[in-house]
Amino acid sequence: MILGFDIGGTKSAVALADGSGVLIARSQVPTRQDLTPESMMDRLIERARRLLAREGIPQDALIGIGLSCGGPLDPEEGIVYTPSNLPHWNAVPVKAIVEDTFRRPVRVENDANATAWAEYLLGAGQGCRHLAYLTMGTGIGAGLVLDGRLYRGRHFLAGEIGHVVLQPDGPICGCGKRGCLEALASGPAVARRAQERLPVYPESLLHRLVVHPGQLTAREVVRAAKRKDPLALQILQETGMYWGQAISYLLQILDLERVLLGTLAIHAGDLILEPARRTVRRYTWHEICHDVLILPAGLGVRAQDYAAIALWLNENRRH
Ligand SMILES: [Zn+2]
Repeated sequence: MILGFDIGGTKSAVALADGSGVLIARSQVPTRQDLTPESMMDRLIERARRLLAREGIPQDALIGIGLSCGGPLDPEEGIVYTPSNLPHWNAVPVKAIVEDTFRRPVRVENDANATAWAEYLLGAGQGCRHLAYLTMGTGIGAGLVLDGRLYRGRHFLAGEIGHVVLQPDGPICGCGKRGCLEALASGPAVARRAQERLPVYPESLLHRLVVHPGQLTAREVVRAAKRKDPLALQILQETGMYWGQAISYLLQILDLERVLLGTLAIHAGDLILEPARRTVRRYTWHEICHDVLILPAGLGVRAQDYAAIALWLNENRRH
């Protein structure tokens, strides 16, 4: 059995799977930003204990425990350093906390890497050797599996593709630079661009979908685009082109087989993927991109559960 912890900005979960990664049970709690990291960890540990008790699994039956969380974090020491979605978490020794509780080995990984590994073993990456998985939500990041191994980089910061600069004089990014991919094409950036252009499109469906202007999110933009709203379609097309540009950098450097896109791409589908693919074909050598697959991620809403579990799986699905 494998126990998995997923710690997200709005919700967290514990999941239990068998040794080949088949999910058996899960339990979700809202992530409360008003709690200290220690009390949030206590709540999750309590959930995990109840899950094990309910399924009749003794602690000793656990092969190991996986923990997936937003970065930056040190996967070797198992310390989380102030992720943007968990601003109060500074230098939290999550590995030690969980290890001391359950007396079982714990593996910690940032969520983009862990999900890339899960997609590689269990999702849309099965059967290939070189892939990137891109998270496309509030933040943008990538996990890289190169030659069948997770690639983390020297400072565990490989795959920070949300912060490649596409427009040197573009909007300011949360990281302090200007014109990063994340500042142009993340969920909040999509909403912001739509919001800015709304006055020029008095007929747009978005006026009706959103009662209060400040509440516009990427979700409404996708909904309006599916109903062929011209403004929403334009925004998603531009978003796909930004993503395509960034993906072309990855491909031109890493010569990947597959690129899997999460979150926004799963909801918007070809409305974003098609302009992304067109841009990739324009910006990347034909020899590299003619047979690359750019697809929505395969694990869907359970991706985060699998991400934590997959840290204890290898090619043979065994630890
Ligand atoms: Zn940035």
